[in-house]
Amino acid sequence: MADARSDHPDTLSPPTRRGLLRLTFGGTLAAALGAAAAGPVAAAVQNGWFFCPKCQGLFFAANGSGECPAGAGHTKPGGKGYLLFADYTPPSNYSAFQFGWRYCRKCLGLHYVGDGNPAGPCPVGGKQAASSSGDYMLYVGRTAVPDYQGGWHFCSKCRGLWFAGNRGKGECPAGRGHKKAAGSKGYSLYETQ
Ligand SMILES: [Zn+2]
Ligand SMILES: [Zn+2]
Ligand SMILES: [Zn+2]
Repeated sequence: MADARSDHPDTLSPPTRRGLLRLTFGGTLAAALGAAAAGPVAAAVQNGWFFCPKCQGLFFAANGSGECPAGAGHTKPGGKGYLLFADYTPPSNYSAFQFGWRYCRKCLGLHYVGDGNPAGPCPVGGKQAASSSGDYMLYVGRTAVPDYQGGWHFCSKCRGLWFAGNRGKGECPAGRGHKKAAGSKGYSLYETQ
């Protein structure tokens, strides 16, 4: 099993369908995302991320089903997946983005290690394994840019990413359901078409 990034060579893909032209012809990712930012950026854009309806988490389905906190592998639903940005060179103003998210090569989930957060528990056992992961970046809060889905949250128990827009709290590798961080604005993810 390869790490998340090496399976998908870095390519520039549109943060929005309209944004494709701007990126291709020298615009900025931040501009396409609607953020106040200036200066060219280099972004790695990666498809292949999916929501798991069993644990309500996000996982990298391009590498298989991994390990779900709800038991056995994650389930990949039909339909849309998500696109993540990794190893992005930040423009001067990048407060709309948060770096520090990592892919776990054991369970295939996404977890946060920024701001001094230690790796959380992995459903496979032990800690999340971020070695060989890129530095993933999430858009903080909600955006009016089309094709983005808000309602994703950091779990204060397992430090993973989960979708709080459904009934229920999913299944947390730290036990029982995931938990929103107090005062969190959440994150928006780009839905692939
Ligand atoms: Zn799952
Ligand atoms: Zn893991
Ligand atoms: Zn959790």
